[in-house]
Amino acid sequence: MTDPMLLAPCGMNCSICSAVLRPRPVCTGCTEEGIKPKYCTDCRIRNCVHATQGQWCVTCGEMPCACLRRLDLRYRRRYGMSMIENIRYIREHGRTAWEQREVEKWRCPTCGMLWSAHSAHCLACGAANSHYGPFEPFTSRP
Ligand SMILES: [Zn+2]
Repeated sequence: MTDPMLLAPCGMNCSICSAVLRPRPVCTGCTEEGIKPKYCTDCRIRNCVHATQGQWCVTCGEMPCACLRRLDLRYRRRYGMSMIENIRYIREHGRTAWEQREVEKWRCPTCGMLWSAHSAHCLACGAANSHYGPFEPFTSRP
């Protein structure tokens, strides 16, 4: 799979979100046209004045702000990923390298579809998602 990953302003990879990956998607990705859940349209980072002016967290001098740190902590504790780590990786290596890394990390070895960070099991075939759970290496505050 070489499809580009859907990147949200906060550093979330929307391509591994269960709202996008489920058999009947309820979201098309944070920055794509189409349907969004309320928790995404209400998102403080998506609606941040910097993000609405086109400056995503990747280019923001205030990264990581308190708002992003809260979201990131929740994801590091529960979902095996970190928005802040994504952003730092993109800053250092570029988006293409990050997309490649993400595909390698999240592709289900059983069926080839992407795992959802939000699900302990592949939404396509049911195989166990080995990245589900606390982000490794877990660090308390990036
Ligand atoms: Zn699978």
